[in-house]
Amino acid sequence: MIYLDYSATTPVSYDVLESYIRATKDFMGNPNSLHALGFKSKTLMSSAVKQISDIFHVLESEIIFTSGATMANNLAIIGSCLANMKHGNHIIVSKLEHPSIYKICDYLETIGFEVSYVDNNEDGLIDFEDLKNKMRLDTILVSICAVNSETGARQPLKMIRQIIKKENSGVLFHSDMTQALGKVSVSFHDVDLASVSSHKIYGPKGIGLLYKSERVKIKPLLYGSGSNIYNPGTPAVPLIVAFSKAIRLMTADIDKRENFVKRLNNIIVEELSKIDGVLINQTKICIPHILNISLNGIKPETFIHAMEEYDIYLGTNTACASNELSTSVMAIYNDRKRAMSTIRISLSYLTTTDEVYRFLTCFKKVYYKLSTLERD
Ligand code: PMP
Repeated sequence: MIYLDYSATTPVSYDVLESYIRATKDFMGNPNSLHALGFKSKTLMSSAVKQISDIFHVLESEIIFTSGATMANNLAIIGSCLANMKHGNHIIVSKLEHPSIYKICDYLETIGFEVSYVDNNEDGLIDFEDLKNKMRLDTILVSICAVNSETGARQPLKMIRQIIKKENSGVLFHSDMTQALGKVSVSFHDVDLASVSSHKIYGPKGIGLLYKSERVKIKPLLYGSGSNIYNPGTPAVPLIVAFSKAIRLMTADIDKRENFVKRLNNIIVEELSKIDGVLINQTKICIPHILNISLNGIKPETFIHAMEEYDIYLGTNTACASNELSTSVMAIYNDRKRAMSTIRISLSYLTTTDEVYRFLTCFKKVYYKLSTLERD
């Protein structure tokens, strides 16, 4: 098998799985229980949270566990809007967000909030002037992803934060860092709120977190028992322990891994650029782990399934919106045909050079076969 859909999800690393199994077997108590078994689980959970907060240089109380990035995005954006309604009802997002953000915006519009979409330049970089112009007295939140899930376009969050805070220091800045975490270095200190997900960093599915600066007030979206007001109920101790392990493992050799992935990306771009009808949707701000291409005249779905015959797994625009137009490619290239025919090749430090060459051989076979069929 050649797996090239690492941005959709990653395999759980063995050490992470071991932590999960150990925590499940040896720490069965509910951390909310008052007895010794509960205390044992609570102690384990607290040390996992401490390890996470140390890595990100934030307070333990600033980490809120969620079911994944979707829930973190909901809690960050809807929670901030509900808590800040007295200051205004306007939010700003980019045109390069994950579908989960747009779904939240659609919902917010139904309850009286107004959403503006900030422009980007031809590289996919946020248009800073447009951001300034779109900020109003009633703006309460700006949400801009760290790395776009479809093209890998990476935004300079520190700079964007400065622009936002200079215009109005009361406006909150949220970033969906799901596609950045583990691939490139990120800092929660660049933002007020950040969403990340475990299954994108070789951790288990079903857990993510929202970083919420202690200065920020949000409204809970769920109500129940337990000590966590934003995610009530029984904490998922084994998932928290495993996620913490995945976060610790992810920081090792991050630059070395990125350079390796860059070399793989270069090999693919060099070869695919030679093929007539293949367009490379990669600009200078894209991280190498995500390589988006458009195939002239071939349906992405047909291509993906044809590659599957060779046991090669690719993505379309994003796993959460397969079969639709790539909103991000549209936002960067403003070309509907190009945006309707995108394939996402996503790489990992686990990808080998041999896999890349075998992928390229099969890619050419499939591409030429399908383009001949299309012409006939
Ligand atoms: N945001 C981004 C940028 C993503 O890539 C994804 C996953 N495709 C999500 C949010 C949703 O994450 P989760 O599956 O953890 O809910």
